Amino acid sequence: MAEERFDVVVVGGGPAGLSAAYFLSKAGFSVAVLERGGRLGSKNMFGGRIYSHVFDKYFPSGWRNEAPVERWVRRERFSLLCKGQAVSMEYWASRSPGKYDSFTAFLTRFLEWMGSLVESEGGLIATGVKVDKLKISEGKVIGVEAGGDELEAGYVLIAEGINTILLEQHGLRPRPRLESTAIGVKEVIRLGENTINKRFNLSGGEGVAQLFLGDFLKNARGGGFLYTMKDYVTLGVVVRLGDIGSSEISVRDVAEDLRLHPFIKSMLEGGVMVEYSAHLVREGGTRDLMDKPYGPGYMVLGDAAGYLLNTGFSIRGVDLAVETGRLAAEAAAKCLEKGGEPTCTSLYGEMLRRSIARRVLEKYKMLPEFMNNYRLYAIYPQLACSTLAGIYTTDEEPLKLWESLSRARKGKISLISMLMDLLRGVRAL
Ligand SMILES: Cc1cc2nc3c(=O)[nH]c(=O)nc-3n(C[C@H](O)[C@H](O)[C@H](O)COP(=O)(O)OP(=O)(O)OC[C@H]3O[C@@H](n4cnc5c(N)ncnc54)[C@H](O)[C@@H]3O)c2cc1C
Repeated sequence: MAEERFDVVVVGGGPAGLSAAYFLSKAGFSVAVLERGGRLGSKNMFGGRIYSHVFDKYFPSGWRNEAPVERWVRRERFSLLCKGQAVSMEYWASRSPGKYDSFTAFLTRFLEWMGSLVESEGGLIATGVKVDKLKISEGKVIGVEAGGDELEAGYVLIAEGINTILLEQHGLRPRPRLESTAIGVKEVIRLGENTINKRFNLSGGEGVAQLFLGDFLKNARGGGFLYTMKDYVTLGVVVRLGDIGSSEISVRDVAEDLRLHPFIKSMLEGGVMVEYSAHLVREGGTRDLMDKPYGPGYMVLGDAAGYLLNTGFSIRGVDLAVETGRLAAEAAAKCLEKGGEPTCTSLYGEMLRRSIARRVLEKYKMLPEFMNNYRLYAIYPQLACSTLAGIYTTDEEPLKLWESLSRARKGKISLISMLMDLLRGVRAL
């Protein structure tokens, strides 16, 4: 691979990098994706759900039949877990809410499918190749160095994910703040299609996305998730690094407590764990966006540029990564057509500012502050469980809802704090 030249070199074969490579190769440009993992998807990890809007709008019309979709999400559940109790809320939809939808998938298979689209358009994907350095000349990125080889390019697209080692090494972005970084661990559990359909009340390719808060978190900020695949469920937790680094809490214990909660245990009975993985995840919203995700000769995509939204009821990273990849491809194509001026990458900055990915993050810009509140994770789940226990388990004289809530919150939280949190929640969500 010594001294080869491409129109565009992409660092990282995740959703962002493969999206950029697909649109560029489709437009007829020469593209090489360099991925350090031995195969696509081997270094990537996620919970299980992908929002379809970007595929519906920009990918070949038959993508829904060709992509490795596991199930279409038709049930959204949110559960608060306490000792021996659970309070759940469900959104139930009998069929697709329309064109824009969400589905569950295994990221490895999904990335293999995206890779096949890149290759069918003539793009090159080299796996097992770690980019060691950006090649910079007179302040412009002109290529990359990988394992002693050099590749030159009109533009380099950096889609290295949350571990921004290359960007930090070249002083292009600071290390993500501990406060806005979390660690996620996930188990894949085999249950079989029929068992999943029966236990989760599903049929015909329907799936569930379920999120959890509660005492399994041991006062750390984070949450749990469960997604149904065809034959498997994925179960995992995400916990802020700042909360586990400074205490005795281990993310493994948090995950174990979630799995052993009777509410979850009954869902997983008879299941066999076939995979366990861990990965860093962003929590920061707009605060973690790079001010300038571009510079002479380069553009930064996906997680590396800070594009991830965690609302507490959904995590969106893959669709935003794919969208930033698409925009970077469009900007690079326009710049190459105009002669490949290195500073032309500012076009990507303008496109990003107007993009749906950016608008989504702006819309939830108050969210990170709201989600910093420890009460959300420790006090409110307990309050919900105790209040409902009060009204459902009564002796002859039943408790009214208000009485039960007052009793549950006594000594834990004032009415004013509750009202303030409610107000903050309404503004953030
Ligand atoms: C626990 C957890 C749960 C999540 N759940 C969801 C979910 O349900 N839905 C959702 O939409 N999102 C979810 N996400 C977020 C989602 O996974 C990311 O937002 C998304 O993968 C970002 O895509 P990306 O291409 O920017 O980065 P990545 O997927 O991280 O890809 C980066 C790629 O670059 C490669 N790379 C890095 N450095 C180099 C180098 N120097 N040379 C060559 N290759 C390199 C890596 O090996 C990797 O393949 C979750 C994340 C976690 C951790």
